[in-house]
Amino acid sequence: MAIATHLIDAFAGAVLAPGDGGWDAARQAFNTDIDQRPAAIAMPTDALDVADALRFAARHGLRVAPQRTGHNAGPLGDLRDVLLLKTDALGGVEIDVGARRVRVGAATRWEQVTPRLSELGLAALHGSSPDVGIVGYSLGGGIGWLARKHGMQTNAVTAIELITADGRFVRADREHEPDLFWALRGGGGNFGVVTALEFEVFPVRELYAGALFFEVEQTADVLHAWTELLPHLPEEITSWANVLHFPPLPELPAAIRGRSFAIVMAAFLGSEADGRELLRPLRRLRPLIDTFAMQAPAGLGDLAMDPREPLPFRSAHALIDALPAAAIDDVARISGPGSSLALVQLRHMGGALSRRDPDAGARATLPGEICVFGLGVVPEASAEPAVLSDLAALSAAVAPRRVGDYPNFVEQPVEVSGFFDPGTWERLRRVKALYDPQDLFKANHHIPA
Ligand SMILES: Cc1cc2nc3c(=O)[nH]c(=O)nc-3n(C[C@H](O)[C@H](O)[C@H](O)COP(=O)(O)OP(=O)(O)OC[C@H]3O[C@@H](n4cnc5c(N)ncnc54)[C@H](O)[C@@H]3O)c2cc1C
Repeated sequence: MAIATHLIDAFAGAVLAPGDGGWDAARQAFNTDIDQRPAAIAMPTDALDVADALRFAARHGLRVAPQRTGHNAGPLGDLRDVLLLKTDALGGVEIDVGARRVRVGAATRWEQVTPRLSELGLAALHGSSPDVGIVGYSLGGGIGWLARKHGMQTNAVTAIELITADGRFVRADREHEPDLFWALRGGGGNFGVVTALEFEVFPVRELYAGALFFEVEQTADVLHAWTELLPHLPEEITSWANVLHFPPLPELPAAIRGRSFAIVMAAFLGSEADGRELLRPLRRLRPLIDTFAMQAPAGLGDLAMDPREPLPFRSAHALIDALPAAAIDDVARISGPGSSLALVQLRHMGGALSRRDPDAGARATLPGEICVFGLGVVPEASAEPAVLSDLAALSAAVAPRRVGDYPNFVEQPVEVSGFFDPGTWERLRRVKALYDPQDLFKANHHIPA
């Protein structure tokens, strides 16, 4: 309590200590099983406030964890000696249509930007969930519906404004503080509190996108057909194969409520005729529901049908270089009828995700052809053993072809050096030593000085 009272003197935004009204709401993560218990929570209203909060934390021996939505709170671990700095009040969206550039405050979620861009004939490199924060997504990588054509969102970032550990306001881009700019793009929240971010967006009036829903009993056939298709797909199409067990929630459409499906979703930067041709082998399996149509890019916002409300879950993921036939059958068995996992998702990678652009940041590429992700909901402790067992089985099924991790999908504390090649890791540590030698910032994935 004393901690927060001190901070209030120097601070225009809200400050909360344990027991204050709003404390539990402010410390809530997207995964409701993550029990964030920081020393205090600060909600700065502008960059000056952020600098005040950093000075205060340093004076009192606290570290600072910047956070927006808490979608990746799991890896943070113990927050006892940490000031949780929630960026919720640092809003703002500016769109420069001619330059195809967007500037957002650190509070901005994708859903506040993508519908507006869509009306202007533009699309951003957002992912599956409209309520993920743009800053956290972008600093960690960011793989979405246009990833095979345009790569990761982190490498579409053109400028980052932040407050560094010494309380300085810094604008980092290719010309100014280029090492910091490089490190932020993939090195995450280890170097400062980002107050604003600017990024490139792409001209897209319409694309061919949608989902094919199949009987869940067809899971193995669908996964085989999808996997066989991958080598023949151009970079203009990004597709994900899913097995989804929808909960019986009243807000879901009756056609899917409480039901299970194998679903292939895709976004194609091309015509309906070409898109239909590419998907022909899948339609031969006679989908129950087919939502594909030419549509504005806003339609991608909710294509994946991600949950919007926080929920308790466990997850596992892997980047793999191939999914051999035997592994497909294992994945189908683990994810199909009777599975304890609400979602198993296979994302087609490759294309621009595997090409190194000389201007890229620390997260220049991701290895692998497929990103495998599994998630099980654990509303009560008794559900956990089955979920953990199915997640372990999923990981084991793809382990022989595992080639790496995608940090944004890692939901627990891990040794972070393995996310980068040795040269990149050493450079990240050098930048950290330069900008945050006292290790003030506690990021979801820690890079030590
Ligand atoms: C339902 C769901 C769907 C997802 N879909 C995708 C997807 O399609 N593609 C994809 O690539 N990822 C996806 N993700 C992963 C997502 O990109 C990460 O969880 C990301 O870290 C979320 O960013 P956030 O700011 O919302 O989360 P937070 O937990 O608030 O932030 C995560 C981390 O980002 C850093 N950070 C955030 N804000 C700041 C700031 N202002 N200054 C400095 N550091 C900051 C901090 O280190 C923080 O710990 C998904 C996650 C979920 C839960």
